[in-house]
Amino acid sequence: MRLGIEKILQKDDLGRDDLIALLDIDDPAEEAALFKRAYEVKQRYVGTKVYFRGLIELSNLCVKNCFYCGIRRGNGAVKRYTLSEEEVLDAVKFAHAARYGSVVIQSGERQDEEFVSFIERLVTRVKEVSHNELGITLSLGEQSEATYRRWYAAGAHRYLLRIETSNALLYKTLHPDDHDFEARLESLRTLYKLGYQVGTGVMIGLPGQTTADLADDIAFFKKMDVAMIGMGPFIPHHETPLAASIPDWQEQKERQLRRALRMIAAVRIQLKDVNIASTTALQAIDHVGREMGLLAGANIIMPNLTDTEYRTGYQLYDGKPCMDENATMCAGCLERRITSIGETIGYGEWGDSPHFKNAKKEH
Ligand code: SAH
Ligand code: SF4
Repeated sequence: MRLGIEKILQKDDLGRDDLIALLDIDDPAEEAALFKRAYEVKQRYVGTKVYFRGLIELSNLCVKNCFYCGIRRGNGAVKRYTLSEEEVLDAVKFAHAARYGSVVIQSGERQDEEFVSFIERLVTRVKEVSHNELGITLSLGEQSEATYRRWYAAGAHRYLLRIETSNALLYKTLHPDDHDFEARLESLRTLYKLGYQVGTGVMIGLPGQTTADLADDIAFFKKMDVAMIGMGPFIPHHETPLAASIPDWQEQKERQLRRALRMIAAVRIQLKDVNIASTTALQAIDHVGREMGLLAGANIIMPNLTDTEYRTGYQLYDGKPCMDENATMCAGCLERRITSIGETIGYGEWGDSPHFKNAKKEH
């Protein structure tokens, strides 16, 4: 191992150049040392208990047209769907019975009143059917302050909104002109102000993204004082404008996965006590990608609760795994995989990050 890397791995607070050096590691032994260090930090600050957030993919209707995403408005090849209230509540009851701490309701973006009030009602109903036990995370894109307020008042307490990249110029190349980086930032600020526990994140390995951009993303997370991070590799989707952005995908995908894992490790080392999700996109590249994410420093998994009938309709990227497995099968298989790497599952717990709890004490 290079002496430089060894020294960086001993540091408690990493500078921009340190982060770049870690993210650029190519040597397997150095990479293993990076993951080992991240795992030590994870054990020390958040422990080795994995928390489950049951993921409900509510709808693939979306008013936006992000260049990378398979359910973008412009993709006419997708059959659009929206789950009924009953279907959502069935998934919620499953999550509650399986003693997941919380559920995530995610969907394409819509701002119309019908949608806003549907979500408001769903949040209320989730609280009712779970006797106030299940935590609720929403991941429904950019909304007005009034909407965020209504959903918070109904009982949602966490919100996931990825910044996608903290580089405003790069953001512009990934979205049509009517999508606005500043508006996304403003949404994050509003969510904080209203009291949500806010999660954000980026895609890793985007076309045009540099290692310095990723290092700056980590600085952005720190500046925003986020409690949760959800990040994953960018994976091209064949029906999008970025379909051909990584032409030799089959040769590149392993590198894309490793880059994402190094990013998880670097974030863990730098931010220490936050929750970091080991996302499905990791698993889309390698069937044990999420376990690799846990070993690189992540501590949250979002098992998919969406009925298989709809799963094919919610493909943000190509190669989404477990298209033919229902939630029960996923739960059994996940538990085995997690215990196989020596970790435990925080059943029946909300699993707020120590960072969030500490921040609360200070305020
Ligand atoms: N509409 C909401 C939530 C659904 S999209 C929103 O955009 O916030 C959830 C996440 O999927 C996005 O934030 C993006 O980071 C990720 N995503 C979309 N397309 C992707 C792709 N091709 N590869 C990897 N991740 C992708
Ligand atoms: Fe819609 Fe989200 Fe996909 Fe953008 S990333 S097109 S907002 S679902």
